[in-house]
Amino acid sequence: MRPAHAVIDLQALRHNYRLARQLGGGKALAIVKADAYGHGAVRCAQALADEADGFGVACIEEALELRAAGITGPIVLLEGCFEPSELELVIAHDLWPAVSTPEQVQAICELRTQARLTLWLKLDSGMHRLGLSPSQFRAAHAQLSALPHVATIVMMSHLARADELDCPRTEQQLAVFNAATTGLSGQTSLCNSPALLGWPQVRSDWVRPGLMLYGADPFAHATDASAQLRPVMALRSKIIAVRELAVGEPLGYGARFVADKPTRVGVVAMGYADGYPQFAPNGTPVLIDGVRGRLIGRVSMDMLTVDLSDHPQAVVGTAVELWGCDITLAELAPICATSAYRLPCGLKRVPRHYR
Ligand SMILES: *Cc1c(COP(=O)(O)O)cnc(C)c1O
Repeated sequence: MRPAHAVIDLQALRHNYRLARQLGGGKALAIVKADAYGHGAVRCAQALADEADGFGVACIEEALELRAAGITGPIVLLEGCFEPSELELVIAHDLWPAVSTPEQVQAICELRTQARLTLWLKLDSGMHRLGLSPSQFRAAHAQLSALPHVATIVMMSHLARADELDCPRTEQQLAVFNAATTGLSGQTSLCNSPALLGWPQVRSDWVRPGLMLYGADPFAHATDASAQLRPVMALRSKIIAVRELAVGEPLGYGARFVADKPTRVGVVAMGYADGYPQFAPNGTPVLIDGVRGRLIGRVSMDMLTVDLSDHPQAVVGTAVELWGCDITLAELAPICATSAYRLPCGLKRVPRHYR
């Protein structure tokens, strides 16, 4: 059996969720969209089911997968319905849709139902992606509040630059949000992971942690809060072949690495088709039998190569960890010109083992 696999630590996930809720001081929506950032939405939601205040997903298909797996708690559709016909399923499965566009407001107004909906009404406070403008938002709030089939409106917005701790944009978005919601009744929600970890003034009734649940630090330099996160995923495999390169010999596609001294090379069963970054440069850290080493040569589809010169004990079968508690997503992402979000989201083919 191919030794490439991911180990998912559900205790760490629960620890991170509790940390998020404690920091937020209110309720915390566990964001499990995109298959829980590659960690497995059903297993992650089940592990949090007895304590999570609710879950956040990107679309109704993801919500229905959770319902089918027995998740009964609140589920927010963060982008709402993509077409009005989905509202039938929203009602049937008791989902909470975001309402972010005039078209989505219209669809709720035209709905005829005995059910009473909870809506997450989204303000565009400056990200300029989804959300109603402040004037549209106030009009929609009045219109929706008056409907007999709307029970609750949570007022939400999303922050564009909360991961930049010295950027004034988050404060500006908060000011726009406060002005637009003045005098309106209902709970509020602004925080994603970087906001929750770095901007205490933004915390409100509901926080929406995603990345931090999986133990990844959104900041280049850990804060007191983010230092308490525990990585959830470890991506592991084994050495499947060992060879010696003589001086001047090239390694792998494109000869991106050429030995400048006799070099012992290990071939690891892990490639970009598994989600490991294809353009990880020479020198990218890897953990070889628990000791830091380095990747050399270009990553190929199913394999990558590591320098074993300083790892004389490493042989065929030696364990290699590509990321986890030692080499964190936050460390690896900038080296590979990617983000801590994208690395686990890209996971493919490798089986996930839950602990
Ligand atoms: C994905 C998402 C989040 C979670 O963001 P993180 O940065 O991963 O914590 C929160 N809110 C909304 C609306 C999202 O789409």
